[in-house]
Amino acid sequence: MLNQISGLHHVTSMAKDPNENNAFFTKAMGLRRVKKTVNFDSPDTYHLYYGDENGSPGTIITYFPFAHIARGKSGSGEVGTTAFSVPTGALDFWSNRLPGFGATDVKKIEGFGEKRLTFAGPDGDGFALVEVADDHRAPWRHDGIDPDHAVRGFHSVSMRLRDIGATSELLRFMGYEEVDRKEGITRLAVPGGNGAGIIDLEAKPLLEAARLGAGSVHHVAFAVENRAKQLEVRKALMDTGYQVTPVIDRDYFWAIYFRTPGGVLFEVATNEPGFDRDEDTAHLGEALKLPEQHSGLRAEIERYLPPIVD
Ligand code: ZN
Repeated sequence: MLNQISGLHHVTSMAKDPNENNAFFTKAMGLRRVKKTVNFDSPDTYHLYYGDENGSPGTIITYFPFAHIARGKSGSGEVGTTAFSVPTGALDFWSNRLPGFGATDVKKIEGFGEKRLTFAGPDGDGFALVEVADDHRAPWRHDGIDPDHAVRGFHSVSMRLRDIGATSELLRFMGYEEVDRKEGITRLAVPGGNGAGIIDLEAKPLLEAARLGAGSVHHVAFAVENRAKQLEVRKALMDTGYQVTPVIDRDYFWAIYFRTPGGVLFEVATNEPGFDRDEDTAHLGEALKLPEQHSGLRAEIERYLPPIVD
């Protein structure tokens, strides 16, 4: 069993409109945009990162906004819910706030002894806020959101799978332990994690496969401290029979990717070097940053991409 993974690093999803996406995360949810760059594999598309002040691993939700993308269809083989941690007692504030910013299907529910507010984001994204009593991660400062209510980072992701067996086995190999099981949901957690250490697996044997589109999670990334630990994880996965990509430089972290038996795309990303490698912490996310390989395209990219209005 591996011990290098400390929880989630980031969750990457797809959206239709970059301005709607930006407004939802920075204004409604009160996150900080920590990077404005392009999809390194398709530089005519933004890649927007939102998180805490520094973009700490375990707080970062990222989006590819594709102007012509159709709405995704929810189903099996995907992350169904991305859940954020908020302080105890904060859900009333959020249930009053979110509908005014375009969130729909806002509902309070309880499960695993936790109070949670579920809602759909601008593209139908499946989100939840979960009350956590002892999450000491510092929130980003937002004028309209008291620190007693503010988002701390991820709580968990919940994957909908036809059969959870192989994914559960994989997560246990990656260092997760089963901590609870209720009403068709198996909860795994990584001991001593980074605050975003929970994965829920929902068994949905009859559910049709999801279709990727706006509002869908594209992949979920797990955090390792550095490149040496990432190579250990890569070797162990390959020795177990997984087909893992080579290490790819994403400028703010190094990434490896592999497809899991349940259909969800996993990434393992390093905590180094971080989002301040090419701009000051005080100004993270303000300027359009391009990776070296696309820096020659700056004029074309700036002409093509719609400006983001903050
Ligand atoms: Zn990623």
